[in-house]
Amino acid sequence: MIATEKTVEQEQPISNIEWDVERVREDFPVLSQTVNGKPLVYLDNAASSQVPQVVIDRGSKYLQEEHSNIHRGVHYLSQRATTAYEGAREKVRRFINARDSRECIFVRGATEGINLVMHGYGRKFVGEGDEIIISAMEHHANIVPWQMLCEEKGAHLRVIPINDAGELILDEYDALLNERTKLVAIAHISNALGTVNPVKEIVARAHKMGVPVLADGAQSAPHMVVDVQDLDCDFFAFSGHKMFAPTGSGVVYGKRELLEKMNPFQGGGDMIRTVTFEKTTYAGLPNKFEAGTPAIASQIGLGAAIDYLNSINREQAVAYEHELLRYATEKISSIEGVRIIGTAREKASVLSFIVEDVHPHDIGTILDQEGIAVRAGHHCAQPVMQRFQVPATARASFAFYNTREEVDTLARAIEKVIEVFS
Ligand code: PMP
Repeated sequence: MIATEKTVEQEQPISNIEWDVERVREDFPVLSQTVNGKPLVYLDNAASSQVPQVVIDRGSKYLQEEHSNIHRGVHYLSQRATTAYEGAREKVRRFINARDSRECIFVRGATEGINLVMHGYGRKFVGEGDEIIISAMEHHANIVPWQMLCEEKGAHLRVIPINDAGELILDEYDALLNERTKLVAIAHISNALGTVNPVKEIVARAHKMGVPVLADGAQSAPHMVVDVQDLDCDFFAFSGHKMFAPTGSGVVYGKRELLEKMNPFQGGGDMIRTVTFEKTTYAGLPNKFEAGTPAIASQIGLGAAIDYLNSINREQAVAYEHELLRYATEKISSIEGVRIIGTAREKASVLSFIVEDVHPHDIGTILDQEGIAVRAGHHCAQPVMQRFQVPATARASFAFYNTREEVDTLARAIEKVIEVFS
């Protein structure tokens, strides 16, 4: 079972899930270390996930045997590097089921991808009095660029509110959509709450009004099977470092007809067709959006991470992760004094919580002493904290290499936190 929008709520008992977590853990060298004398319990996957040995090896191979600049060289190494880099693009295309690999633009991560759309699409097509719709659960990466655009153009940001469970109020979305709306930009999965948003439905409603939709897939690409054609979103941005690849890798997908109409993002080498001092003409897709030397090793690493994900049983991985989140939610929420922030019916990977009378940073520090890595803070989603009237939360976020025993360790450590502060 895959946590697509249709099936995420159907639960599969763990006994039916074929997932050898101990075997999978062996693929990730970082997991076998100790921290503060305790086995590392890595529960900060929503920030950055760990990298399997095969991805590390692929990066080393590039550096040892292929390192050179892409596209420009006729020599052997440059051709090998180019083949590997463009091969990674084709892997990305298949991974998200884009029609054409030229629709997959390599960027440093989701933030850069969203900024690319803001500059390329927003600055060209959004004008005074226009509106952009986002939601109350966005990461700052999907707020600030739109705010900057609105400031520059005299446009307005409209925000879909969320309910107490952390779900979008879709009736309010309908009320916000109008003929001035130029773009909807929405998280596929909230990094602060774990809510899985019904992006397909959101897209369908926007398209009825002729409005394009950007999905921020930073949290969905690693935790769901994503099909951009099925979602029918116009843009989809994600980061490699959250999906078992190195930092500096990432993708923004865009429908070809939109990308072709857009302005370039940055100017420089590789994005041009011809340059004179009078006028520059631009390269075709995807080069038009990839000025300068890209993060070649990282993007090749992203391709290797996709190979890795294809080599494991992805459907079972997603089902396992879903069951682990259910187990963790039950276990952690039963501890007296703990409140879960984000209780949507459809969730993935993320468990945000607070402990009565204890600041989340203190929780994070004590858990670290136990070898447990969680995030404590506002998770770059300050409006979510304001909505739930908390200064910050502690956040455990899971991947398919986490175990029930790790959840038990987390629960014991939270009990210890409560003891220390009582
Ligand atoms: N959107 C969401 C939902 C995220 O979780 C993150 C990373 N926390 C981002 C955007 C930004 O990703 P990056 O920092 O990799 O660009």
